[in-house]
Amino acid sequence: MPVYIVLLGPPGVGKGTQAKIIAERKSLPHVSSGDLFRENIKNETALGKSAQAFINKGELVPDDVTIGMIRDRLSRPDCAGGALLDGFPRTTVQAEALERLLAEFGGKVNYVPFITAADSTLVERLSGRWTCKAQGHVFHEKHNPPQKAGVCDLDGSELYQRDDDKAETVVRRIQVYFTQTAPLIAFYRERGLLTEIDGARPIDVVTADLLTVLGK
Ligand SMILES: [Zn+2]
Repeated sequence: MPVYIVLLGPPGVGKGTQAKIIAERKSLPHVSSGDLFRENIKNETALGKSAQAFINKGELVPDDVTIGMIRDRLSRPDCAGGALLDGFPRTTVQAEALERLLAEFGGKVNYVPFITAADSTLVERLSGRWTCKAQGHVFHEKHNPPQKAGVCDLDGSELYQRDDDKAETVVRRIQVYFTQTAPLIAFYRERGLLTEIDGARPIDVVTADLLTVLGK
């Protein structure tokens, strides 16, 4: 039986990092919806072209396009043993579509680890980032400060805050995440699949917890 993991977590909690580690440790492909979109658009697949058309109009990509990409990806031979899903589903409608899709592959969602942390922790992690203008080197006010404020250690270029990394933007992103994801969290909790993991701790501690949840 294939094993499918849906990894959930707000921005700043380290979900992407954990997804890569866990996929490797569990020998499962890391299926990131963001990567899938980029890949389909770059390769100009029918689904990619369709997605691009909506993006160009400033509209959300409809579920059937997104689910089409997921179906495509999960049909490949490397997903025969299952997959770790990252960034999908985002809504209960997508979660229901995923249930139907996985049933076609003779499987179901087995685990839904939800890595989470207090808003203040997430805001601190995300909003303290400063980026180098020349080469994109990234520093953090608290966790990885440059030797001289506002100057890149590596090439002496000016550091700036991307709009995404400004405190007010970060607070909003986090609020939007929790508001939009609440029904999905409830959906998986009701099914007894959800396990909360404290993401405020060091990376290796979070990984160890995740591996325990996922068994063996
Ligand atoms: Zn630099």
